[in-house]
Amino acid sequence: MKLFTLGPVEMYDHTFEVAKKQVPYFRTPEFSEVVLECDGLLRKFAKAGSDAKTVFLTCSGTGAMEATVINCFDEKDKLLVIDGGSFGHRFAQICEIHGIPHDVIKLPYGTALKKEDVYAFDGKGYTGLLVNIDETSTGQLYDGKMLSEFCKKNGMIFVVDAISSFLADPIDMEDWGIDALIFSSQKSLALAPGLSIVLLSSRMYTERVQGKPAKTMYLDFNSHIENGKRGQTPFTPAVRLIYELQDMLRHIDAMGLESKLAHMKEVADDFRARLAETPLSLPEYPLSNAVTPLYFPDGNAYEVYETLKKEYDVFVTPNGGDLAKTVIRVGHLGNHTVEDNKMLIDLFKKVLNR
Ligand SMILES: *Cc1c(COP(=O)(O)O)cnc(C)c1O
Repeated sequence: MKLFTLGPVEMYDHTFEVAKKQVPYFRTPEFSEVVLECDGLLRKFAKAGSDAKTVFLTCSGTGAMEATVINCFDEKDKLLVIDGGSFGHRFAQICEIHGIPHDVIKLPYGTALKKEDVYAFDGKGYTGLLVNIDETSTGQLYDGKMLSEFCKKNGMIFVVDAISSFLADPIDMEDWGIDALIFSSQKSLALAPGLSIVLLSSRMYTERVQGKPAKTMYLDFNSHIENGKRGQTPFTPAVRLIYELQDMLRHIDAMGLESKLAHMKEVADDFRARLAETPLSLPEYPLSNAVTPLYFPDGNAYEVYETLKKEYDVFVTPNGGDLAKTVIRVGHLGNHTVEDNKMLIDLFKKVLNR
């Protein structure tokens, strides 16, 4: 089986070695050390600075998005949400459910987010921006620097869902002034699903979280941060995933973050270059290294997805709704090489030539 999906993704052999062990009891100094080591490496890779706070949550990425919104904002805020696909839309739904005032920048499918789209909301009293920096449903990578400047100019809190982008595209929490960075185990970390992490800037912590009662028990950042000081969590964490995480972060640290990012870029660029051998085409907007959306001119995207699954045990990522027939997405996260790209392109050629 080979996964070109967007979570879970193709995992590494060293992760399977960790995953086959007994899950230990975790209220111990030994486990605390593992958590604290993960905390340090995550802050290093996110360029988060030494005052940043790390929250380890046992939930999927959406849980971490919701936790961030309810711990950091309330009905006195006025948020701006970039709704450029299903994940951006999810942020808007979360604000809706929790009664947090917000407006959306709705991007029509296939269009790039432009500076003018964002600056139309300049100087209008917004208190925060919520963005999925790679909108995984379309693969569009937004301009983090431009959004960062907009937030700085307007004194806005900057929340970045980097669930598919962290460790696939360059990101710099301090330089961009990111106040909350969200990511999950099953995407670029290439681990099993169930662990999500939020890094908070010291400004976010002191101004928005510290001492503020949260309207949630399970997802309360204050209790997570208090327990986190000694490398613990308030409730049973995804213990096995924390060990998978420690192992993965050590591997990335050994190869160097820059090499990891260079590899991700090489694999994504290589795949896109090989598309010239096929009738498939790319969108016009900027793309994340995490995923390549492909247009099928003959409207047979879904059939190709099914054929690859049934006959070759190869999984690409289908689209839903209106785009099911014309678009599939190829994920590059996890254990992928240019050899895998070659194999997939050859399969596309074979199936499309039938
Ligand atoms: C995968 C993903 C999520 C979260 O999805 P879950 O199914 O809840 O893990 C959120 N945002 C983005 C950008 C994603 O890629």
